[in-house]
Amino acid sequence: MLDHTLPNGDRMPMLGLGTWKSEPGEVGEAVRAALEIGYRHLDCAAIYGNEKEIGEALSDEIVPRDQLWVTSKLWNNAHAPADVRPALQQTLSDLQLDYLDLYLIHWPIALKKGVLIPESADAFVSLDEQPIADTWAELEKAVDDGLCRHIGVSNFSVKKLQALQAGARIQPVANQVELHPYLQQPALLDYANQNGVVLTGYSPLGSGDRPERLRGEEEVMVLQDPLVAVVAERNGCTPAQVLLAWALQRGTSVIPKSVKRHRLEENLTAARIELSAEDRAELAGLDRGRRYIDGSFWVHEGGPYTLRNLWDD
Ligand code: NDP
Repeated sequence: MLDHTLPNGDRMPMLGLGTWKSEPGEVGEAVRAALEIGYRHLDCAAIYGNEKEIGEALSDEIVPRDQLWVTSKLWNNAHAPADVRPALQQTLSDLQLDYLDLYLIHWPIALKKGVLIPESADAFVSLDEQPIADTWAELEKAVDDGLCRHIGVSNFSVKKLQALQAGARIQPVANQVELHPYLQQPALLDYANQNGVVLTGYSPLGSGDRPERLRGEEEVMVLQDPLVAVVAERNGCTPAQVLLAWALQRGTSVIPKSVKRHRLEENLTAARIELSAEDRAELAGLDRGRRYIDGSFWVHEGGPYTLRNLWDD
């Protein structure tokens, strides 16, 4: 499988399995099937509420631990330094692992302890009160202590990455952000390439199963884009495979979610498809800055977060 070698020699498989919205009762089977057919990278998070069942699947040891890449994420309600280690230990215990390959700060957003999803402005803590640098220092200690091999971030802008990198003792190896032809983020990709950060694309198929509250009025699905269909036809593959091959050929890692075995296979084999320069030039023209996960759920009147200070654009 296509992978990326990190400075310490560890290899991150570029295509992984997403697990957000993979429901209890189905996620375990999806993970087992994925490992059986050749996935070696799992993308998890405490907030997905399914790490226990993923841990049960992992305990079957379908793949030796040292051949598997497991990412998880620190939720926004555990940014306070004293809360970081317990959150990581809970994830390790749920996943039945001794260490993670990668632990990410899920969002540059802090919530009060105990709040899972904010319902009002007073659920938030600003980044002035709870600086990312203090949370990061705890992640660095977790690397020192062998609880995770690498640390990184998610949903960080160039500006936030720069600020973090300037003060970090251990550098972030990855930034997980939304990426697909409708949201190509070229400046972020350039910055990541120049600064030793792997960009991982989430919602690469347009997150068609995201909850109703995250949907806008008009749904324009990248998976149904007519040009993507034309490129698929030209390459004798499916639209999903075009989107995944496009991501891999840009040098990004990508983590499509599915709980269906035939789609797991379809998505994994996308790594073998080679889009032509013409295909890629046409797909480049689809960029329209369209976020499916737009972060508006962090914006509450009177709260510290706005779309502008979240995305810095
Ligand atoms: P995706 O873009 O991966 O889309 C998932 C949807 O596509 C599901 O409805 C799935 O259905 C369907 N699907 C999967 N494969 C195919 C296929 N070959 N053809 C047609 N439809 C298909 O959305 P996600 O938002 O889940 O993003 C992927 C992963 O990224 C997440 O699961 C999560 O791990 C991560 N993520 C991280 C975020 C962050 O803030 N860091 C935010 C959002 C996502 P089915 O399962 O029925 O096959």
